[in-house]
Amino acid sequence: MRIREHQDQLRERVRNLLKSGEIRAFIGYRSGLRPSEAVVTFASEPGEADELILNEFCGLGLGRYALDRARAAEEEVEEPPLGVLAKGCDELALQRLMCDHRVLREDLYIIGMSCEGMVDSREVVRRFGADVQSVRIDEDEVIVENSGGSHTIPREEMLLDKCLHCEYSLPTEVDEMVDGRLGEEPVGEMDFSPVADIENMDVDDRYEYWSRQFSRCVRCFACRNVCPACSCEECSLDSWEPEWLSRHTGLSEQFMFHFTRAFHVAGRCIGCGECERVCPVDVPLMLLNRKLMRDVRDMFNVPEPHIPTETEPLGTYSPDDMDGWREGEG
Ligand code: SF4
Ligand code: SF4
Ligand code: SF4
Repeated sequence: MRIREHQDQLRERVRNLLKSGEIRAFIGYRSGLRPSEAVVTFASEPGEADELILNEFCGLGLGRYALDRARAAEEEVEEPPLGVLAKGCDELALQRLMCDHRVLREDLYIIGMSCEGMVDSREVVRRFGADVQSVRIDEDEVIVENSGGSHTIPREEMLLDKCLHCEYSLPTEVDEMVDGRLGEEPVGEMDFSPVADIENMDVDDRYEYWSRQFSRCVRCFACRNVCPACSCEECSLDSWEPEWLSRHTGLSEQFMFHFTRAFHVAGRCIGCGECERVCPVDVPLMLLNRKLMRDVRDMFNVPEPHIPTETEPLGTYSPDDMDGWREGEG
């Protein structure tokens, strides 16, 4: 994978930006405990730039991490901006936060990177154990080497699910690119057919399906905490007074929680798949998100509902809005 070849370039650039005081810190990746793992790191000293990595495991979304470190109010911007590495999905996350007035563009210095899809490190460990020495993406195949030799697997089986649906892998509104734009081709394609499969079930089967999924949820809120569209300072789900959501985890409350989360991001979800990626029990949250995304596209005539704008379809009113219930059309 070509992005690896630009790791030294990134380190040098970030080191120089920190040394010259052009940025106050940088959000990127460093190696995790396993070779097939990349975790988030915050570099604030020039020497810390040497820990930065660029490889095919850098799939974890970085945009949301800017929320705690960047500023939202113009008058407070006195320090140099915060540096952040951005793939296409990270750029959308940052745009979402900017449109929601949660971070300021002037307070960010965005270093873009081309993305050819990222490998699911959990899948690598599941299949090949923890002693993976290298992973390469070669067109439609992923080549993994471990102590047992070299293994070639179809790309679709090893990429993160979010990448297989990604049509926005190349960031465009960045301050500089670390790799000079490696490829313009989208990695994946937005596919709504799994949504249609659920819609085509009869109502009892559909209820049974979602009951099974939601009853596994342990309400860890990781899906909310990682989401760039869920950035309210006070979340109604945390409120005790009034208690909008009961702490009881019976099925009706589980439905309530999941509908609340999904409707909160309807028309604002960027499709980054982070919520589903972090879920410890594999609740298929992207099915709900994509259902709402497709409905927003069709009902409100928004061709690209995952691209953030300041006027969201469900945040504005027009007398021409669809009103099927009142008119008996829905
Ligand atoms: S979602 Fe797109 S930009 Fe993000 S890691 Fe996957 S392919 Fe890259
Ligand atoms: S991350 Fe998964 S388990 Fe945790 S609250 Fe969300 S859906 Fe439930
Ligand atoms: S709901 Fe999921 S896919 Fe949508 S923006 Fe939030 S984390 Fe990303």
